[in-house]
Amino acid sequence: MSTHKSVLPTTECIRCGTCCQKGGPSFHLEDKALVEKGVILAKHLYTIRAGELSYDNIQRHLIPATTDIIKIKGQKDSWTCFFLNIKKNRCRIYDHRPLECRALKCWDTREIEKIYATNRLTRQDLLSGIEGLWDLIKDHQTRCSYEQLKRFVDALKGTEKDAALQGLLKIIAYDSEMRKLAVQKGSLDPEMTDFLFGRPFTETLKGYGFKVHNKEGTYRLVPVKATKP
Ligand code: SF4
Repeated sequence: MSTHKSVLPTTECIRCGTCCQKGGPSFHLEDKALVEKGVILAKHLYTIRAGELSYDNIQRHLIPATTDIIKIKGQKDSWTCFFLNIKKNRCRIYDHRPLECRALKCWDTREIEKIYATNRLTRQDLLSGIEGLWDLIKDHQTRCSYEQLKRFVDALKGTEKDAALQGLLKIIAYDSEMRKLAVQKGSLDPEMTDFLFGRPFTETLKGYGFKVHNKEGTYRLVPVKATKP
């Protein structure tokens, strides 16, 4: 019996869990029923909003999202997909896993590359029929867009930097406070806000080179080295 490890290339999924540890999938229209039927709950999802910097697995660098990208949350402070049973190295929803999980073959990425940026599921696809809530989401999107955030961040280097800083702090405060209000007055599950309104600016600003400090409702920016948001 040979003691050498096999060096044959992988040709089928051996369910090693490596891809699931690198992050959950992005959702496509084909996955809509998984959310609608409650196989995957909204509280287990988060949204990367249009214009937000996100890591593109095909282009392998950070680029602004062109539409909503709805993804499965990670576990605790890691990127490991929420649905990976780490002890058993098994997907807890394997028979209902989303399209990207079915398309991903680590030994041949052609299929995932073909579908990766197509037919992305958006919040509009899932929520536009819910009056009131959808209006709130649209209003938040208008007031707290990533295009606006980027304009302020860029202007911090120019002659209008004081006005840009004030503008930036204002939308950070609005983004934070409206989430609290939606939970308190709208009785929303706090775990759903990252899906409904995207991740808060207080978290994503690090991708733009800032950390946000909040002391009793007063927000302050501290420059840091930009990291994956
Ligand atoms: S849904 Fe299942 S297969 Fe897909 S990344 Fe998560 S654990 Fe892995």
